[in-house]
Amino acid sequence: MTDIHEHDVLVIGAGGAGLRAAVAAHEAGADVAMVTKLHPVRSHTGAAEGGINAALREGDSWELHAYDTMKGSDYLGDAPAIETLAQDAPEDVIDLEHWGMPFSREEDGTVSQRPFGGLSFARTTYAGAETGHHLLHTLYEQVVKRGITVYDEWYVTRLAVTDEDDPADRTCHGVVAIDVKTGEVAGFRATSGVILATGGLGQAFDHTTNAVSCTGDGPAMAYRVGVPLEDMEFVQFHPTTLPSTGVLISEGVRGEGGILYNAEGERFMFEGGYANNDGELASRDVVSRAELTEINEGRGIEDEYVHLDMRHLGEERIVDRLENILHLAADFEGVDGLEEPMPVKPGQHYEMGGIEVDENGETVIDGLYAAGECACVSVHGSNRLGGNALPELIVFGKRAGLAAAGGDLGEADIPTGRHDEFETDSIDSPVPLGEAGSLDDEAVADGGPALSDADSVVEAAVEAETGRVETLMDREDGVNHAEIRAEVQRTMTENVNVFREAPGLKRALEDIRAARERYADVSVDDPSRTFNTDLIQTIETRNILDVAEAITIGALAREEFRGAHWRAEFQERRDEEWLKHTMLAWNGGSPDLYYKPVDLDGENEEHTYEPKERSY
Ligand code: FAD
Repeated sequence: MTDIHEHDVLVIGAGGAGLRAAVAAHEAGADVAMVTKLHPVRSHTGAAEGGINAALREGDSWELHAYDTMKGSDYLGDAPAIETLAQDAPEDVIDLEHWGMPFSREEDGTVSQRPFGGLSFARTTYAGAETGHHLLHTLYEQVVKRGITVYDEWYVTRLAVTDEDDPADRTCHGVVAIDVKTGEVAGFRATSGVILATGGLGQAFDHTTNAVSCTGDGPAMAYRVGVPLEDMEFVQFHPTTLPSTGVLISEGVRGEGGILYNAEGERFMFEGGYANNDGELASRDVVSRAELTEINEGRGIEDEYVHLDMRHLGEERIVDRLENILHLAADFEGVDGLEEPMPVKPGQHYEMGGIEVDENGETVIDGLYAAGECACVSVHGSNRLGGNALPELIVFGKRAGLAAAGGDLGEADIPTGRHDEFETDSIDSPVPLGEAGSLDDEAVADGGPALSDADSVVEAAVEAETGRVETLMDREDGVNHAEIRAEVQRTMTENVNVFREAPGLKRALEDIRAARERYADVSVDDPSRTFNTDLIQTIETRNILDVAEAITIGALAREEFRGAHWRAEFQERRDEEWLKHTMLAWNGGSPDLYYKPVDLDGENEEHTYEPKERSY
C-alpha cells in the first residue's frame, strides 16, 4: 500500500495565485493543503516589482481597465475574462490592504497609483518597487493564520487522472510528488479539486527575468493528461532587462518618467516614430521591438543594448519609489542609477498562454483547476499589460479556490475542451510530429485497465512515477539534463524571440525534437536521495521540452503579426483568418492543433470590443 496524503483541495504552487486560491478554498470550508517545490515566500511572485492594476479612483472605472486590457491584448483576450478581472480587482486589492499589505501612499494617506504602459489612467498600485515581495508575505501570513497545511519542498511530477478516451470524461483525483528533502515519492489525493498554480516557464529561454524554478511544470503536466494548451506562442519579452543577467528593471521606472536613449542619444521611442503619443509608456511588445530595431540597425550601445535613464527624477523620488532598482542595477550590472543611465535590452518575461481554463479556473478535466501565470483564461491575449499579472493572480486564484472547494460561481461563459465546430489545422513541420520521440508517454493513469476508483488512480500514478525515478537513477552514463536544457534555451532565444520567421522557427522545432530524442537517454549522476537537485532538474527539463515545443508549433502555425507575436512573412494582424485562439492537444505526443473562437462580447451591448488598429 502506498502512503497517500488526503485533503479536500490540493493547491500545487505557493506563489501569489496558489496562496490566494488556498485562502479562498479554506474560507469556503475546505481542508486545504499546498504542495510546493519552493518555500512559499521564495516563489517567483516575490520578484514582481512594479505593481497591481485596479480601478480604485474617481475618474477611473472597470470599463476603462477592461478596454485598455483588451486593446493591449491586440483583441485576442476573451471579454468575459477581462471584464471579470477589471470588475473584481478593486475589491481583491482592498482585501490585500485589509490584510496589511504595505502599499505606498500619498501624503493624505490614500494608496498611491502610478502610470504603467498601455494604461489610459494611472491605476497601478504598488509597494515601492517590491510589490510582489509584499504581496507574497501578506498572503502567506493569511495561510499561516488559517493553519493551512503546506508541504514545502515537495516537487509535483505527475497528475493522477482517470484514463477515459475523451479528456472531457476524465477526472483528476490527485498528484504524485517527490519530497526533495528525502527523495520519497508519495501520493496526494484530493477529494474535491486540484489547483495548478505553478507559475511561468521562462527557463525555456536563456535570457529571462524568470527564476530557475520557472520550468513550465504545470502546463506540461496538464497537457500530458489531456488538457489543451492555449495561445502558447504569445511570449512576452520585457523591454528593460539587464543585459548580463536578465534581471528585470521594472516598468515602474518608465512609469515614474524614465527615458530610453539609443547610442546616438536620441529618445528613439518618439524620434524614431515608434509610439508618438505614449513614447516609453507604449505597450511592452511595441517598446521591445523598437529597442531591437535600434540595436539591429546599428544604434545600440556595444551592439547589444540601449540606455534607460532615470537621473532626472532626482535622488529623493528615486529612493522613495524605486530604491530596489538602484540595488539591482548596482549589484547585477555595477551601475549607479543615480549617476549613470542603466543598460537594458529585451528579455523573456511572461507566458501569455497556458493551461486552458474558464473564468472559474476549471479545465476540461473534472476536478482539475489552474490559476496564475500557468493558466490561460484568457485575460492577456497576445500581449499582457504591465501590472495585469498580479491582479490576475488574486482575482482568478480566489475564484479557482472557491470553485475547487465546491463554491458556486455560476456557469462560466468561456468554453473549455474541444468541440466539433472548432477548426483544425496542421503545420508545415520539418520533423514528424506524429510520434513522441522515445519518451515514455506518461499521460493518463498507466495505460492499464480503466481505473475509476480514486485511490487506485493515485496509487497507479505513484507506482508509475516511482518506476520513472528508478529508471533515471539507475541508468548509467546517460546524457546530462543540463546539455539538453542549454540546447533548448539557445534555440528558443535564437529563433523564437521578439522577431520570428519561418526558417528559424523550423530550425527550433528540429532542435527541440533532436533534444527530445537525446532526453530518452538522460540519466541522473547524483546517487543521493537527499536534496537531489540533479533529479529534480532532469524532470523539469522534460517539462521545458514540452512547453518549448508547444510555443514553437503555435508560432509556426500563426501566420500573422499580433501583439507579441511578430512574423517576418506576415506584417499585419489578420483578423479575418486569425482572430482565434491556438489550441494544442497532447494526443499521445503527436500534438493536435485546432482553434477556438475569441469571445469579444462584453457583459452588455455597449461593451462589445470591436478590433481596432492598435497605436500608442
Ligand atoms: P509563482 O509566483 O512563480 O509561483 C509558482 C509556485 O509554483 C511556486 O511556489 C513554486 O514552488 C511552485 N511550483 C512550480 N512547479 C512546481 C511543481 N512541479 N511542484 C510543486 N510546486 C511547483 N506582474 C505584475 O502584474 N506586476 C509586476 O510588477 C510584475 N513584476 C514582475 C517582475 C518580474 C521580475 C517577473 C519575473 C514577473 C513580474 N510580473 C509582474 C509577473 C508576475 O509577477 C508573475 O506572472 C506572477 O507573480 C506569477 O505568479 P504565480 O503565482 O502564477 O507563480
